[in-house]
Parts: sequence; structure tokens; C-alpha cells
Amino acid sequence: MKSVFVLPGDGIGPETVGQALRVLEHLQKVGGLEIRLSEGLVGGASIDQHGVPLTEETAAQALASDAVLLGAVGGPKWSDVAYHLRPEQGLLDLRKAMGLFANLRPATCFPALVDASSLKPELVEGLDIMVVRELIGGVYFGEPRGIETLADGQKRGVNTQAYSTHEVRRVARVAFELARQRDGRVCSVEKSNVMESGIVWREAVTALHAEEFSDVGLSHMYADNCAMQLVREPKQFDVIVTDNLFGDILSDAAAMLTGSLGMLPSASLGTSGAPGLYEPIHGSAPDIAGQNIANPCATILSVAMALRWQLGRADLAECIETAVNGVLGDGLRTRDILRATSGAQAVSTSEFTDAIIRKL
Ligand code: NAD
Repeated sequence: MKSVFVLPGDGIGPETVGQALRVLEHLQKVGGLEIRLSEGLVGGASIDQHGVPLTEETAAQALASDAVLLGAVGGPKWSDVAYHLRPEQGLLDLRKAMGLFANLRPATCFPALVDASSLKPELVEGLDIMVVRELIGGVYFGEPRGIETLADGQKRGVNTQAYSTHEVRRVARVAFELARQRDGRVCSVEKSNVMESGIVWREAVTALHAEEFSDVGLSHMYADNCAMQLVREPKQFDVIVTDNLFGDILSDAAAMLTGSLGMLPSASLGTSGAPGLYEPIHGSAPDIAGQNIANPCATILSVAMALRWQLGRADLAECIETAVNGVLGDGLRTRDILRATSGAQAVSTSEFTDAIIRKL
């Protein structure tokens, strides 16, 4: 039996994860889903209990599971803790401990939410992009890093962007394999015109393509052009593969093409067979926490990704996606997506989930 380790985290995390668990428990009853669920603490919740945002025991439990479902971490309550003990550090440490080098962020436009995008409907209708972001290398982790004080009293902040061939090949392989199951096109994004790490990136992707994936279409694009193309003609993309920093920015831009942070799931994968981490792309939204108004879709759709990628139940993943689309089609909306459509009905977090469960 597969196991799912659940880390609700902070803010709206426990609320949206609670709804996702209702969906999972329903699928256990009616969908023949056999999984074992256990729960732990991460982020601020772990700081409150253990003094650190991630304990070694929690990391070990995550590694011993088949998949980890995470809510979100952080909030003003922990704004005064030391930098290396912030709730967000718990998430970075967990990703590192689990060796999650590939972050998959779909930007899919649900038909009922076409009007929620800031772009014209014809530009986003049917949009289906997958951004694959390198997650544990590059400038967020490179050494040397730090802040030094210069002789004249000024400060100097330093971060280092570095990529080795191995780091690029493993994330590019994920992108090529995904493209084979989709429209068969990968766009590799870097800035090899001005960065040596970009030259290594492009060479490594090109070589892997020639060796193992010549059946997949490959194009290259500079990151600044990619940002422009995403808002000019987003449907030109199928799979985008890029580094940690560019991926952070471009995947947020791609996500917002579809309307709301509250709709979008993500998966982070390591080596084949290792557990993956499934989480909504949004944060802990302290401004709306505890009010039962958060959109549960991103977390529920993260469960769908786990079912598809890790738990061997792509059929149930599809059921969830169809149910979410159906509820939106019926005009039910949490507040974050309400403005988009006239005549829609405002519902709470739990009422939206009730409707998903009814559809399932
Ligand atoms: P956020 O994503 O939490 O919220 C941004 C805005 O979107 C807020 O107005 C919020 O109300 C809204 N929002 C987010 N998710 C929503 C949902 N499901 N339904 C309805 N509305 C939703 O980003 P932020 O405000 O910049 O950060 C808040 C905290 O979350 C910070 O401590 C930040 O560090 C943390 N954070 C955590 C993660 C994570 O755990 N992966 C990611 C981003 C931010």
C-alpha cells in the first residue's frame, strides 16, 4: 500500500489540506484508492512545537513515504525568528533533503475561468503549458554567498549562479519525458548570451536531446524573450525547462495567465522512484487564514498530480480534474475567482469541496 505523508503547515495550509484530505478519503471509499495517510509539522507550526521549521524526524518520514502533500508555510507570527530558522527555510531544507531537483508547474486554463485572465480570452483559451524549473541548484544555493561590509562601510551582497552538466541533464530529462506524453515540444530557457552557466545549460540540453530524445522538438529561448512571449502568445509553448531563478519568475508569470494563484498545483520530483512533494503554488495567505474562504483547488489539484505521478492512479487524477472543472462550470466560485464571472455563486472553502465530492 502506498503512503502519503501530509504536512499542512501554516495559515490557510491546514484549511486547504483539510479539504484535500476529504477528497482523498472519499476516493478511498468510492474509488478503490488504497493509501496510508500520516501527518507531521513543518514551517511555523514546527517552530512552535520544536523550535525549528523542519526536524530530522520529519525529513526522514518524508523520505520514507511514497508522496508528500504540503499546504503552505510562513506568516507574520514568525517574522522575528532568525533568518536561518524562518518557516520558509523548512520548505527549502525539505526540498533539499528529498533531492527534489525538478519542479513541475502546469499553467492550465480551465474553460470556465477564461475570463479570469488578464489576457484576452482568445490568448488563454485551451492554454496548457508545463513549466519545469530546476529546484535545488543555481543562484539560490550557489557558493560563495553572503553579505560583506567593504572598507568604505558600504555593504556588498553576493550570490553565485552555477550549473554543472549533470544538474542540467537530470532536469532536462524530466522535461523531455513529459513532452513525450504531451505535445512533444520542449523550449529550453537560459541567458547563454550573457551568462556562462547559460552556455553550459544550452550545451547540456542540446547533447541530451541528440543522444536520447531526438523524437521531441527542441527550441532554445533567452529568458527575457520568454517572459515577453508568455504574455504575447502563451499557447506557442508546450514544455518549458529552465533554471531555478528564471523558473521562479517565469512560472509565476505563466501561472497568472490562468487567473488565480488559488487554482494552481505543483509537483516536485527527484530521482525515479523517490518520493515527490505535491503542493499548491500559493503561500499561507495569512490575510484570509481561518475564514473558510480560501480556494482549495490548488491543493486538491496537487493531490491529482500525486495520484498521476506517484500513486499509480491517473484515472482518479482525471476524475478530480473533471470534477473541479464541472464545479466551476456550475458557476460556483471561491472569492478569489468570483470577480471574474458575473452570475456566479460565492461559496466557502468547504462548500466548494462539498461540490467536488458530489461530482466525484
Ligand atoms: P500568498 O500566496 O500567501 O498570498 C498572495 C495573495 O493571494 C493573498 O492576497 C492571498 O489571500 C491570496 N491567495 C493565496 N492563496 C489563495 C487561495 N488558495 N485562495 C484565495 N486567495 C489566495 O503570498 P504572500 O502573501 O506573498 O505570502 C504569505 C506567506 O506565505 C509568507 O510568509 C510567504 O513567505 C509564504 N509563502 C509560502 C509559500 C509556500 O509555502 N510554498 C509560497 C509563497 C509564499
